[in-house]
Amino acid sequence: MYIDSHVHFDRFVKDGSFATLLENAKEAGVLEMVAIGGSPEANALSRRLAEEHPGRIFGCAGYDRDLATESHDLAELREFVADPLVKAVGETGLDYYYTAETAAEQKTLFNENLALAVEFQKPVVVHSRDADEDTIALLKDYSNAWNGAEGRLGVLHCFTRDVKFARAVLDLGLMISFSGIVTFANADPLREVVQYVPDDRLLIETDSPYLAPVPMRGNRCEPAYVVHTAKRLADLQGGSVESLANLPAQNARALFAL
Ligand SMILES: [Zn+2]
Repeated sequence: MYIDSHVHFDRFVKDGSFATLLENAKEAGVLEMVAIGGSPEANALSRRLAEEHPGRIFGCAGYDRDLATESHDLAELREFVADPLVKAVGETGLDYYYTAETAAEQKTLFNENLALAVEFQKPVVVHSRDADEDTIALLKDYSNAWNGAEGRLGVLHCFTRDVKFARAVLDLGLMISFSGIVTFANADPLREVVQYVPDDRLLIETDSPYLAPVPMRGNRCEPAYVVHTAKRLADLQGGSVESLANLPAQNARALFAL
């Protein structure tokens, strides 16, 4: 069985395709999913879905970088993170590709999320784009402050960078998650990174509704497609697709305490 460690459910719920998504996922063997938060609305939806689908959908709540320059209610986020249905803080992090001009505010918000992760000893789901150095700097402080279980610090989601960044993330004790990007034609450099990630630090995700893997490109991505990413990772590692299903599922279970 597979666990999709990173799903944005809002559009599926809005357009009425959520039940079909669950059916398709079940048929593909994707039995568990983490519903990613990032805004007050996404956090509320994540907790609601976790409540309605126990053992199948797990909650996650955070404030993502696009809230950095808007007012955001940290007391409300704190309540979400404290909820036992919420297994992780996120997604949150830094994106200098789209909005480098708000770097200072993004760092402040990221730190506020990290402080909650430390306080509640829940892992953080990190987004990082074109912000390697600052991400590592902030995660270093986080790693030093962490007093939760070993191996449960968090995950760098939708990894697209190089070996150097992967090593830095792994050295700090976080996991690395690969999305459908690893199947894209132009992703040879990323496929090289895969072999540097130890078996017990590897997660897989779809980041639905984005980034549908080959051969489903052009479709809206959904959790059932995580199978294609697992298959590609299995090819790269010379293992069976079964082992590549179970390993990341085990890791996700350990990381999020599912
Ligand atoms: Zn995401």
